[in-house]
Amino acid sequence: MATMSEYNQQQKEALLMVRQHLFGLPLSQLHKLKQRIRSYLGFREAVASFQKMHFADLCSEKCFTSHTSACCGREGIITFFADVVVNVLLSTQEEIDVLLDILDTDTGGLNCVYLNNTGCLWRAKPIVCEMFLCEHAKNLVLDNNKALKSQWETFRQRERRYTWPTRPVLFDELEDCFIEAGFDSPLMYLHRSPGLLRLKARHGLDRKQSSNG
Ligand code: SF4
Repeated sequence: MATMSEYNQQQKEALLMVRQHLFGLPLSQLHKLKQRIRSYLGFREAVASFQKMHFADLCSEKCFTSHTSACCGREGIITFFADVVVNVLLSTQEEIDVLLDILDTDTGGLNCVYLNNTGCLWRAKPIVCEMFLCEHAKNLVLDNNKALKSQWETFRQRERRYTWPTRPVLFDELEDCFIEAGFDSPLMYLHRSPGLLRLKARHGLDRKQSSNG
């Protein structure tokens, strides 16, 4: 059997630890966590519907299969630990099993391990994927339409309220929950990336605070 790539190994470990922790939590705590991500999910729905309305026709399957786009390339995206938490919170055990299975049986190729012929296998794909627009799409759709461009900029700013630690943010808080429970993962970028740690320190977030994003 082929050795699992480091990328796949890290993904698998993160999925397993998140599943183990979340499904062992009392229902009240699980409910609290689900409540905690509600506003983020609202944001994600708004972005998804914007993408669908303005980019769905352009981002055709043909674009994927002909490799003319940078979307969904192999090991091309950063997955934050919080992405995994949100996705597991929204997924059934069977859906998580599918992700684990695909990581175990991956035989390589040009596409992201999670891309199959029906699309992305995540229930809520990573934020980096949700916010990705290739240059071609940006030029064609946004560059000639000021209103859409400004709407997209607003989405970008909203994204930062959940992910960019110049103030307490959800993505940092979700990592905290798992660190406090004794878990660790290379995907915990908000606690491991030197750049993000410096940013947090500059904004006084190296001390523990609770987020309101
Ligand atoms: S996780 Fe999903 S959306 Fe992101 S690159 Fe992979 S298949 Fe594409």
